[in-house]
Parts: sequence; C-alpha cells; structure tokens
Amino acid sequence: MTRPVEVVDELASEQDWLCCAGCRVLIYRKRFDRLAGVCPECGQHTQLVLTQRFEQLLDSGSITAVDTGQTIDDPLRFSDRIAYRNRLTDARHATALSAAVEVVSGTIGGYPVVVAAMDFRFLGGSMGAAEGEAVTRAAEAALRKRVPLLLVTASGGARMQEGAISLMQMAKTSNAMAALDEAGLLTITLVTDPTYGGVAASFATLSDVILAEPGARMGFAGPRVIEQTIRRKLPDGFQTAEFLLRHGLVDDVRPRAELASVLGVLATASAPVPRRWGEAETDPTRYHPDQLAMKSSADVVRLARDLDRPTTLDHLVNWVEGFVELHGDRTGFDCPAVVGGIAILDGLPVVVIGHQKGHDTAELVRRNFGMASPAGYRKAARLMRLAAKLRVPLVTLLDTPGAYPGLDAEEHGQSSAVAECMRIMGGLPSPVVSVITGEGGSGGALALGVANRVLMCENAMYSVISPEGCAAILWKTSEAATAAAEALRVDARSSLELGIVDGVVPEPNSGAHADPAEASELVRRAVVCALRELRTQDGQELVAERRQRFRRFGTEP
Ligand SMILES: [Zn+2]
Repeated sequence: MTRPVEVVDELASEQDWLCCAGCRVLIYRKRFDRLAGVCPECGQHTQLVLTQRFEQLLDSGSITAVDTGQTIDDPLRFSDRIAYRNRLTDARHATALSAAVEVVSGTIGGYPVVVAAMDFRFLGGSMGAAEGEAVTRAAEAALRKRVPLLLVTASGGARMQEGAISLMQMAKTSNAMAALDEAGLLTITLVTDPTYGGVAASFATLSDVILAEPGARMGFAGPRVIEQTIRRKLPDGFQTAEFLLRHGLVDDVRPRAELASVLGVLATASAPVPRRWGEAETDPTRYHPDQLAMKSSADVVRLARDLDRPTTLDHLVNWVEGFVELHGDRTGFDCPAVVGGIAILDGLPVVVIGHQKGHDTAELVRRNFGMASPAGYRKAARLMRLAAKLRVPLVTLLDTPGAYPGLDAEEHGQSSAVAECMRIMGGLPSPVVSVITGEGGSGGALALGVANRVLMCENAMYSVISPEGCAAILWKTSEAATAAAEALRVDARSSLELGIVDGVVPEPNSGAHADPAEASELVRRAVVCALRELRTQDGQELVAERRQRFRRFGTEP
C-alpha cells in the first residue's frame, strides 16, 4: 500500500480523465470528485484539499471559519538554499492558504463540532508556529463551545525552518488536548496519508478515538530513516492504517464514504440526553431466588457454554441504533477476545465492553475462545476511562472461560491488566451495569464485572474456577466436574442467593440458544431498566454505592 505522495499531483491535473496512481485505471474526473477522491477500482484514497474535506465531513451549509490567530512567520530568519520567508510566500500562493491548518466549526449529523484539518500541499503539512497555534485555537474553541474536537491530520512532522519554536508546538498542542480531557469533551483524530513526526507524536495520537483512512501511513520516524538506522528492509504495508490497526494503535480504518456516519454516532455521544429516559420499558429481571427454577449444575454449565447463545456483538446488533467499535490498547496490540466501543442505546450514549466468543470453530479460534490477553484488558481499561471522561454509562457483558493462561500473557502482565480494570471500574463516576451472559469465568470475567448492578442470565454461570479445573485440583480427576459445579454453586439462582448478582434475566423457555433474538431483547430491557434507575444518582454516589456493594462480601450472614 505504500506509495509516493507525488501521485497526488498527477491526479490533480485539469483534464477530464485521471489516471489512478494505485491501479493505473482511467477515471472520469467528475466521477472521481463524486467519490470524494477515492478510486472506484482499487479504493486508493487521494489527498483532498481542505474545502473538499470540510464539505465531505460536515453538514452542508453548517461551516463557519474559526479564527486561527496571529503568529511570527519566520522566528529564526532562516535560510537554506532559499529563504524560508520565500518558501512560505510560495506555499501561500500555491494553496491559497495562510498555513497548513484551517479550523472551522459546523455540524455532523446535526451535532456541533470544531474541526482542524491539515493540508499536506502546504510545505508537507509541517507544523510550525502557525499550525500549532491553529490546532490549539481549535481545541480552545471546542472547550468554549463544549463540543467535540475533530482533527484531520496530514503532516511530514515538525517544520525545521522554525527550529525549536516548531518543536514546542508539540507540547503546546498536547496541553490543549489535555484541557479537553479535563473538561470531558470528546476528541477524535482522522489520520490521512501521511501523518508523521511531531504531529503523530503530539495531538494526533492523544485523541479518544483515532480513525484512519485506508492505506494512510502514520509513524514517529519515516520508513527511510528507520531502514537506514536498523539496516534492514521494512515489511510491506509498514506503518499503514491496516498495520496500525493490527498493532492496536488506531481504533479503526474506515473508507471515506463511511466517515460522516461514523462521526455522527461519535458526535451523538457528546449530546445531552433528557433526564426522563427508558421510562416505557418493563423490567423482566427476577430479583428473588424463589422466582427461579432449581437447575442442575450440569445443565447450567452445558447451556452457559452453548455456542448458539448470543455473543456481545450479537447483543449490540440487536440493541443499538449506532455502534462504533474501538480497537486496540494503544501500546502495540489489539485483542479480539474483548470488544467494545461507543453505542447509542435508545438515544442514550453508552460505552459497551464485552468478552467475545463466536459461533463456529473459525471465529472461536480467531477470538481465542473469549480468553482475553493483557491487551484485551488494557483495551477495556482504555474504554472504561473514556466512559469516565465523557460521563456516559458503562455496560459490560461477561462471557469468558477466564483470562488467557499463556506464556505471552504472563510476559505482558496479565495480573496487573486484570487488577487495573477492577480498580478503574470501582472508581468510575458514571453508572455501571454488568451482565454475565454466558460463562463468568474467574478473574478474567470479574475484571469487567465491578458494577453498580450485576445481572446474570438465567442459564449463565459464575465461578471462581472452571468446574473441570476445580475437579482436577480437589477431586484429583476432571471426571468430577459435575460434582465440582454443584459444590461451587455456579448457577444463577445460587449466585442470587449469595448476593453475587443483583438480579437474574430470564431466558426463552429452553434457553438463549433456542431464541437468541428474544434472549437478547430480554437482556436489553433489563439493562435499560438498571441504567434508568442508576442515572438518577450522581458520580460520587455511584462510586460509594459500588464500592460498598463489593465491600460487604463475606461479612454479612
Ligand atoms: Zn485505483
């Protein structure tokens, strides 16, 4: 996917027909414009000029320029072969821009946002004082208006001709991003090709959500510098959006045509929600053990593990109007056994996190049977912090045999990753509802289960260890798994009696696997009713109640 940026000039010629630099196919210019600069044959995303970019992302007629301030043009009176002052004049003349960044306010899907976008044609999108000031002013405008900030990046890095003044823009913009974190305002980056150096290593990667266009490259050091340093050839696709996604460094790769709708869902997450919410819903949850049939533990274990039970992603498909899945732990990995993101539940923005199994062998293998790595818990922790920052409720769905017991998992700190999740969940200043939807396996499940309300599906199980594991250790034979499950009291009725869960969500007659859609609907209603009640409490009350809930275990008769 790596390609020279010069191709843009070829595409920007004034003829009626264009030749795609990716696949060499001829494209009618008007069609190419209608496709927002994306090749219909190979999908190559070319660079857009800023007016095109703003028009593509924002609602038509909503765009207003935001003042980007005054800065010193040439602080060092720098000159190489050509005086920097002249280079600036030429760039301004060629692009009709005053700097590589422009800032506008507008709406996406009706929701207000501030957008700062970079134009690579202006001195390679490099960050000088004017660009740093513009990004900082964009953040300040978002803060003043209390709306999300969207950053569209394209940059070669810092601007050498402005020396250390340019370097300082990294710190200045990072501080501006921190102010938005403190104010609880959503920040989003859209990485376009290419985004490097001081821009990648400051505001671009500090956003809550980082999306990338297909093929867009982002990195700290450029590939040529790395190859010269390590004296090795870099792999194909190095530093592309797809590479970054695999390494947990961006949340998702989305084609240009999908951006407006994805950003619309994200912008909704910052919109106010009426106090009266979910009032029409009736609660299917059973709160007394007497309301539940006695079940044999052997049946429960079998049903809890049934591969036709709805998974976390199945629940999300059934429940929500909009869901943007967010990937990665931002430190090198994305664990497929944990999924999560921002969802709109009956108009209420929520962060949802859950273990993810699968319905067939191929997906189970790909998802490591729902056994998360430390990266999975670090991704979960990141999303929990996002829920705390945005003050939106957190919903978690638990379905795992346990955290993955592997060599890599130990090397990467499985214990601390699990522990950190529990600590963050316990202190979250927003409502938290957890549902054990299938297998609630040990610490790997509880890592996502420190909630104000813990619910459990009728045929789910919750256990300190797998019945097989317990049998092998205490009975000295895994044949005794049924006896172990019975003794451990892993079923929902027992969990309710013990106070481990607060309520049990009924399942269709023969179990969730028999009617997954109906099973999912029952869980949705239970979650809505729990959230409806919790939303009346403030952050301090929620934290105090949650900590008290877990404080009492083992001390009450
Ligand atoms: Zn093409």
